[in-house]
Amino acid sequence: MKILVLNCGSSSIKYQLFEMPQNKVLAKGLVQRIGEKQSQALQTLNGFAFKIEEKIADHEQAMRCIEKMLTDPAKGVIASLSEIEACGHRVVHGGEIFTGSVICTEEVVREIENNAELAPLHNPANLTGIRAAEKMFGDIPQVACFDTAFHQSIPQTAYLYALPYEMYEKHKIRRYGFHGTSHRYVARAAAEMLRKHKYSVDLITCHLGNGCSVAAIKGGKSIDTSMGLTPLEGLVMGTRSGDLDPAIIFHLIRKGYKAAELDNILNKKSGLLGISRLSNDVRDLQQKEEAGQTAAGLALEIFAYRIKKYLGAYLAVLNGCDAVVFTGGIGENSSAMRRRILAGLENLGLQVDDNKNMAVIGKTGEINTSGARIKIFVIPTDEEGAIARDTFALASEKAVVV
Ligand code: ADP
Repeated sequence: MKILVLNCGSSSIKYQLFEMPQNKVLAKGLVQRIGEKQSQALQTLNGFAFKIEEKIADHEQAMRCIEKMLTDPAKGVIASLSEIEACGHRVVHGGEIFTGSVICTEEVVREIENNAELAPLHNPANLTGIRAAEKMFGDIPQVACFDTAFHQSIPQTAYLYALPYEMYEKHKIRRYGFHGTSHRYVARAAAEMLRKHKYSVDLITCHLGNGCSVAAIKGGKSIDTSMGLTPLEGLVMGTRSGDLDPAIIFHLIRKGYKAAELDNILNKKSGLLGISRLSNDVRDLQQKEEAGQTAAGLALEIFAYRIKKYLGAYLAVLNGCDAVVFTGGIGENSSAMRRRILAGLENLGLQVDDNKNMAVIGKTGEINTSGARIKIFVIPTDEEGAIARDTFALASEKAVVV
């Protein structure tokens, strides 16, 4: 069964075409700058690139562009769109309604709309993608996979903020957590590496990419995570501050900053970029630190220190664990960052083997010393693959997706 996985942003669509159940990626691509003067579409297949540069007015037109690239007689992979039997969509916010992936019905679409106030930048874009796909594909199953779903098992003790209770009742203010598809995927992969059942592992999973989050997983289920109502809480990220004293915001408002300005600063100008004033990219910062720029080293050190604190907190929450897992662009590729995070945690059972750590870059591997109490795994994430598998399961009516 051919399944198209779509990740729609407000001005971009990322896509991958899968052959299921073989989990084979037939093609992947990206349409970006939708609605701008010069849009760009790029598809790759076995390292073979296919590029279109023209004005793409909206998501519907972007979907047509994807059709053109997938079905191109010379560079495409299918003869016609009718070969595609289902679409899987990444949807950011599923609120408290969705605990797993679902087939999009009118009711599901309404609930995604209802949750748009919690993710005003993302859910409307995700919906636009669902609608454009419905229009283009007609009657095939459209499946929604939510970033929040895996974290719906978090208990009230961990998801409620210590605010007046009516903030939760009236305004749905609580911890939701994100990156759920990635945390779930690496948790299942870690269970296999541990040769344990997926519901009998205790783990701490660290997704360190452009956005970063940690999850505490007990018996295969998420029981706490660092992101909150929005993806701003928790770890230091490329451009997001993560945790801070909320009074800082009132203090800055009294100094004349506007709410929208602070929103922009905390989301787009903080984190690694804000501290270093150099870059939001760990690769750049590592190079600059080596070249003697102390601001780069400071940003990396603060980034690592925040993760270390969460590892300590979640080791307490879980009363120890089977494994700590690193994933995401930084977690998978930066052995230097992993070493920085794990340094000085030996007494907690986390002992990294430097040689193994240096050797595991961009691939799955175990990087703890042989006698260590807690395993340390690197597992490349595969959010699109996980969405394809959920979509395949639902579309072929094996409705249990966990
Ligand atoms: P996204 O969250 O957008 O999916 P990724 O998971 O690809 O992003 O992570 C992107 C980040 O990964 C980049 O900002 C970069 O800092 C980091 N990264 C990628 N490759 C390396 C590398 N070889 N060494 C250090 N950091 C890396």
